Amino acid sequence: MASLGQQAPVAGNGAGATATIEVENPATGELITTVPVLGAAEVEAMAARARAAQPAWDVIGFEGRAQVLRRAQKWMLDNAERVIDVVVSESGKTVEDAQLADLGYTVSALGFWAKQARKYLADERVPSWNNPVVAGKKLIIRYAPAGVVGVIGPWNYPIANSFGDCVPALAAGNSVILKPSEVTPLSSLLMEEMMRECGLPEHVFQVATGDGSTGAALIGHVDCVMFTGSTETGKSVMKAAADALIPCYLELGGKDPMLVLADADLDRAANAASYYSMNNAGQVCISVERVYVEEPVYDEFVTKVSGNISRLRQGPPTGAGAVDVGAVTFPPQLDVVQEHVSDAVSKGAKVLVGGHSRTEAGRFYAPTVLVDVDHSMKIMREETFGPTIPIMKVSDCEEGIRLANDSSYGLQASVWTKDVERGEQLARRIEAGVVTVNDAQMNYSALNLPMGGWKASGLGSRHGAAGIRKYTKVQSLLVTRRAPKREPHMFPYRARRTMMLRRAFKLLYGRGSRD
Ligand code: NDP
Repeated sequence: MASLGQQAPVAGNGAGATATIEVENPATGELITTVPVLGAAEVEAMAARARAAQPAWDVIGFEGRAQVLRRAQKWMLDNAERVIDVVVSESGKTVEDAQLADLGYTVSALGFWAKQARKYLADERVPSWNNPVVAGKKLIIRYAPAGVVGVIGPWNYPIANSFGDCVPALAAGNSVILKPSEVTPLSSLLMEEMMRECGLPEHVFQVATGDGSTGAALIGHVDCVMFTGSTETGKSVMKAAADALIPCYLELGGKDPMLVLADADLDRAANAASYYSMNNAGQVCISVERVYVEEPVYDEFVTKVSGNISRLRQGPPTGAGAVDVGAVTFPPQLDVVQEHVSDAVSKGAKVLVGGHSRTEAGRFYAPTVLVDVDHSMKIMREETFGPTIPIMKVSDCEEGIRLANDSSYGLQASVWTKDVERGEQLARRIEAGVVTVNDAQMNYSALNLPMGGWKASGLGSRHGAAGIRKYTKVQSLLVTRRAPKREPHMFPYRARRTMMLRRAFKLLYGRGSRD
């Protein structure tokens, strides 16, 4: 891999900022660089520049914006190694995790929104012929850009879950200010550099590096906020959005259950459980966080998963194929993972694989398999966000569904069975925004399929029509072409016309046949 420190993108908007953040490589503990913490005044100035730049970006139209997004797509592919290097350096994830999600997802998203924005945001004609009160009038729904969109992102996917949410906002004609996690700001700064090189007009996309206070300040200056992060911070964001009276969309934490039925393809289920609990070192909002297995296949499933996970290689990601599981990106997360494992063990859980942090220079937690777990344990109820897989035996799928739903979260879930029709019926009974049958996480690649959490996992969704319309203001247009000089309901009021209108209402709605 290329030298990471030399390629670190530079924060360009820090004039006036005094505090800085040290960005370190979690896999080695090395300092990469520092970036400024932007304060309220800098964020306000940034928002003013974004607001001034937005109308011209809107006027460029869908095709003009699509051209810039397609150039960015090509730029990312041409600079794939650099993009992956920067993500890997500040997150400590493997090259493969960075490539699949941060690079792969984002190039796909750039192409998708370049093409689909026009379709999802085209004017819609609403019929008027079926309503005699407005018959003959032209009714239109129009999606106008919100204006300046604030995107606040987490550290687990420094590009996919931060810049990824900016792409549809830009495609819709907005200016965007991205506040990345303080742990992983360099990937976002690289995206800012990319968009500049790809011809995006100045100030249409800006990155506000900083900490939580920078994010909080941003909410007061934008027209809409898209937040991805923890449920606790999400609540603060929503309160701040309420004060600013702006819409906010929240993609929050999860505790995704996996339900393995006795008739499942056990090899596939075990391989998927191993991968989807450990990819990105388990730091995935839609990670398999807990597994329920029907009693007849429980032992075999546990043996297969334990075998898979004990073979995983972990350590600093020095290049493609070097390791399977990377570092813990966010320092306090290591304590959360250890606390959940210790809590489970103290209540009777058994560690089959791993169960400890590692002692290298970097920050690692060994891939861990736990059994004899139950819902008294944090590891089954709170988001662990680390390389752990607790597996619980259930007597039947009814118990599995009950336990799957015994959670404050409702982001995603999966059901595993060869009887796909039954699987689909069971999926509909799980309280989650997305449920997959014989799969997990792959829905994230279906950009035309909405993805969003229920319960404490979020509000609103990304992807699909809703994933771009949320960045717009809906404007309804009613256009009257031909009409009399005065209509029957207009002044002056006359008893005869009042009664005539009442008879008309009876005629139209008396039989309950009209809307
Ligand atoms: P946090 O909630 O800690 O932080 C998210 C972002 O919010 C960061 O940029 C953070 O800045 C910023 N922030 C902190 N305080 C405030 C505030 N008061 N006002 C505005 N912004 C603020 O989440 P993490 O970064 O720890 O990310 C992990 C979480 O994200 C997990 O719970 C995970 O499940 C969730 N997530 C959800 C996804 C989904 O699609 N549902 C996808 C990916 C992750 P700073 O970093 O500087 O503190």
